[in-house]
Amino acid sequence: MKCALCLRDEKLRKSHIIPEFFYKNLYDKNPKRYFSVSSEPGKRPNIRQSGIWEYLLCEKCENKLSRWETYAARLFEQEAVIIEKPGRLECHYINYPMFKLLQLSVLWRAGASKRPEFQDINLGPHQERLRKIVFQEQPGSPEKYGCWLLLCPSFKNELQRMMLSPDMVKVNGHRVAHFLIGGIFWNYFVSSHRPEIADYDIFLSQKGVLPITVENEITSEYLINESIRFKKSGNLKHIVPGEKA
Ligand SMILES: [Zn+2]
Repeated sequence: MKCALCLRDEKLRKSHIIPEFFYKNLYDKNPKRYFSVSSEPGKRPNIRQSGIWEYLLCEKCENKLSRWETYAARLFEQEAVIIEKPGRLECHYINYPMFKLLQLSVLWRAGASKRPEFQDINLGPHQERLRKIVFQEQPGSPEKYGCWLLLCPSFKNELQRMMLSPDMVKVNGHRVAHFLIGGIFWNYFVSSHRPEIADYDIFLSQKGVLPITVENEITSEYLINESIRFKKSGNLKHIVPGEKA
């Protein structure tokens, strides 16, 4: 079978589309499970017990990705240096190539996946560009497929228990691939011009600063639209107590 990353004919491994460590917070303590929720009306949330995988990569490519995943897992678990600023958190001393390549590999995997959960991630010509970037380990500039992270403290408990089916949305006229991973919204800008969203850099910088925007007036319109999509779908009533369709 052909490996989706190196394109060689190799034995394929069970590859996670979203790294397994991001699911840790999602699992209820007992039993081990989380909700997979879609904003598409009528699609009931799935209760899942482990991350989503498929036969996608050969062993060599799996190992390549797992180096970046191990690095990111350590950051998220204990090693990040986080500084609070007005309206955002900043993680400092991030290894730019390692973390950016992890982010790009998640976007690329979602686009390459044939699983129904990722069917809305259509990257067109960017899919092959991303494959080359990930395969050659050339993360490029911060703006290139930059990922804007957004944290919403007011829905923190709900969001940490959910994994959304990612989809493509518009943010300020930009095409954005939109994920909920580890309780944080990951918004990948799939075009090359710089989005004007905040008066500070919103993407991981080459100096190793990873900003996480905390919801505020600037982002509230985006969050309201997001909430409306989910509320309209009627799917939240299955997981949020008291929520009506
Ligand atoms: Zn491979």
